[in-house]
This record gives sequence, C-alpha cells and structure tokens, in this order.
Amino acid sequence: MSIAQERRLVTAIPGPESLARLDRKKQHVADGVGTTLPVFIVEAGGGVLVDVDGNHLIDLGSGIAVTTVGNAAPAVVRRVQEQVAAFTHTCFMVTPYDGYVDVCAELAELTPGDHAKKSALFNSGAEAVENAVKIARVATGRDAVAVFDHAYHGRTNLTMAMTAKNMPYKNGFGPFAGEVYRAPMSYPFRDGLSGEEAAARAIDVLEKQVGAANLACVVIEPIQGEGGFVVPAPGFLPALAAWCTANGVVYVADEIQSGFCRTGDWFASDHERVVPDLVTTAKGIAGGLPLAAVTGRAELMDSVHVGGLGGTYGGNPVACAAALGALEEMREHDLVTRAREIGVTMAGRLADLQETYAVIGDVRGRGAMMAIELCAPGTTTPDAARAAAVAAHCHAHGVVVLTCGTWGNVFRFLPPLSISDALLAEAFDVVAEAFAATA
Ligand SMILES: *Cc1c(COP(=O)(O)O)cnc(C)c1O
Repeated sequence: MSIAQERRLVTAIPGPESLARLDRKKQHVADGVGTTLPVFIVEAGGGVLVDVDGNHLIDLGSGIAVTTVGNAAPAVVRRVQEQVAAFTHTCFMVTPYDGYVDVCAELAELTPGDHAKKSALFNSGAEAVENAVKIARVATGRDAVAVFDHAYHGRTNLTMAMTAKNMPYKNGFGPFAGEVYRAPMSYPFRDGLSGEEAAARAIDVLEKQVGAANLACVVIEPIQGEGGFVVPAPGFLPALAAWCTANGVVYVADEIQSGFCRTGDWFASDHERVVPDLVTTAKGIAGGLPLAAVTGRAELMDSVHVGGLGGTYGGNPVACAAALGALEEMREHDLVTRAREIGVTMAGRLADLQETYAVIGDVRGRGAMMAIELCAPGTTTPDAARAAAVAAHCHAHGVVVLTCGTWGNVFRFLPPLSISDALLAEAFDVVAEAFAATA
C-alpha cells in the first residue's frame, strides 16, 4: 500500500485547498447534489482517504458501502487497466463479450440457493430494482409491489415510490408510480415484536389492503440501509419468504447495500438461509465502478420477451472487469471472514460506548455493517441533533462517518474491509472522543 495507513491532519478540515474547490463546486454543480464532508480527494486506499491539502482521513463509509474491497484495490486496477486498453464499449446487446457472462456466472454461484439462476446487468442499484419489478410483473401477470417502512430502493420514479423517506429523496418530485404498497417493517428496537409476530403483522396488511393474488413481488432489504440499518428480528425474513412462495409472490431481496461480504456472509440473506427468488445487487459488486445486477430463478428471469431487458451501458466491459477484480480480492483475502472480524471489533467498541452514553439506545448490525441509534435516554425519541454534533466532531478530527435513518439519528459504520486493525481502533477512539466532547 503506497498510501501511509495513518490519520494525519495537516490543516483544519476542510483545509484551504478544499475550501477553494468547494467554491468552484458551488459555482458549477447543482445545489441539489449535496456533500457530507467537503474535502476533495486525490488518492485513496486501504482505510485512508487523502485530500488536496494532504490530510489523511480514516474511511468508515466506503463511499456508501461501495469500496468494500478497498479503494483502487490491486486486482480491480489491474483488470480495469487491461480492459480499458483492449476495448471500452460495444453495447452487450449489439455485440457481446466474455466479461458480462463471467459476472453472471459468478452471480449464479455466489447468490443464495442452488437452483438454476440467470442474471441481467445494469448501471445503478435503482435500475436493478426497477428491472426486478419489471421481471416480477411479467412473470406473475400481476401489478402490485410491496415494500416496507424505512425502505430505500433508489431515486428514479418507480424507486422513489418504493423508498419510504420523503426528505430529501421524494419531496416535490411526485407524482410517483402507482401500485406500490407499504407494509410495517420488523424493527425490534421500536416494536419489540418477535420475527414471527412482525411477519404476521406485515402479512395481514398485505392480505387485507392489497390481496396476495394482486401482488407481483415483495421487495425487502434483508438489513435496511439508508433507513437506519434496521435488522429485522430473527424469523421475520423466513416467514415473509415462505408466505411469498405459498402465494405465488416473487420474493425480491434488495442486497444492494448488504451484499458482497459486507455482513460477514456473501449476502445478508445467507444468515437465515433465506433463498430469494430475485436478488438485486450493486454498490460493493465492482470496487467503485458503476455496475448492478438482477439475479434470480432462471424461469423467472426468462419470462421476459427478448429485447425487454437491457440498456446502452448495462454490464459495461470495464465495470465487469472491475467486478471480476473485486471478486478476486474478496476470495483471495477471505473478506467474508474479515468482515466478521471487523464486526466483532466494532460491536465491542459500540457496546462499550453504549455503557457510558445513555443516548445510544440501540447497537445493531452484522459484520462490517454496524450502527448505533441515538435517542433521548431510556426512550425511542430520536436525537438527530446529537448525531449531527458527533458526526461534525468526527469529521473535524479526520474520520469519515455517515448518518442515516428515517429520523437522521443513526450512525452507520461501513469501513472498507481493507482497513487495518490499528486504523479501525484509532477511528473508534475518535468516535469515543466525539461522544465525550458533545456530552
Ligand atoms: C443505494 C441503494 C439503492 C440504489 O442504488 P443506486 O446505485 O444509488 O441507484 C437501492 N437499494 C439499496 C438497498 C441501496 O442501498
């Protein structure tokens, strides 16, 4: 690793060079495109982001769960360089190439279940979710789509309808796509229900308000991402999947944030051995290049007429090369195991913090996808102000952290799996200082 794996602050955060560039950003980039931490990055790798002022920041966000294998991971760089020099695009729908098929073969092997599977590749997570719905509708001949409270599925018109939170994702952008229905999510910290009870509650809503015979698919994040890293109670997902199977409803796992080693399994669905009919993936799949996929039962995937799925750039050869490089990194460095180790470390540090700071109402997550929810002590009343203060302290001290959740009161920790133990420990020292400083 050529980048020194250390936190090194040589200016205030953001420094003068970043501030100058921030002015240019304000001049040229639409205000609607927000920025969490305005340091302009010139280099990144391992667990470190280097900015234009020469500051080394510790990365606990992975560009929102994307650079799971690390930034500029060697196998990704090598394969991308080879591919970009060979050819950059043909459009797979015009003249095909091996990389696309190789990625689909890998997805068939790695995603849950040993049934016959096929895939189609796209550019973004939202596009994958849209296509999963298209496939489920054609396969079932039904219209309705079920999603959950706190869900996040993207920012296109259909996926905005599927996303729960109004601000900032939906406000003013309607009217939204129809035939999208929302069911209550299992949220143990807030509802205290067992998985079976929460599933019965959700199924009752779907049966009474939609009707199973009208439902094309149920789309669910096995661990919710933007909605607050909500981990459903054990038994919730298996019960829901079983109900879908019994009623001819396509069960779609949106593993866009939780997939590819992040949770200490290849996919979060693996934890309870749930076998989805369709899986959507993106984010961690390609080490930072834009790629997404729908993978599922061959007979479902093949229900769509020829030409019904695709897009100009979907499964671009450079992005596919990056995905094959990312998978090489995941296998070679056993990142499933590494995610579990990181998870043990993070869970320990967060449990210690919770003992000291009563504002931490809940510690949850799995593997390298952990979160804490901040609430008025002893209640479930969200404390977004404290979350913002803690985040600001972390940022000022060179640790990139992300918040999330319906009330903006959840910290999510998503380090790249290439981070060293020493850096991870230092990052959580800073998080602890941030709680002390804002107490
Ligand atoms: C990020 C995300 C999406 C949308 O992916 P984009 O690539 O941003 O379109 C969809 N679902 C989940 C669970 C996500 O985390």
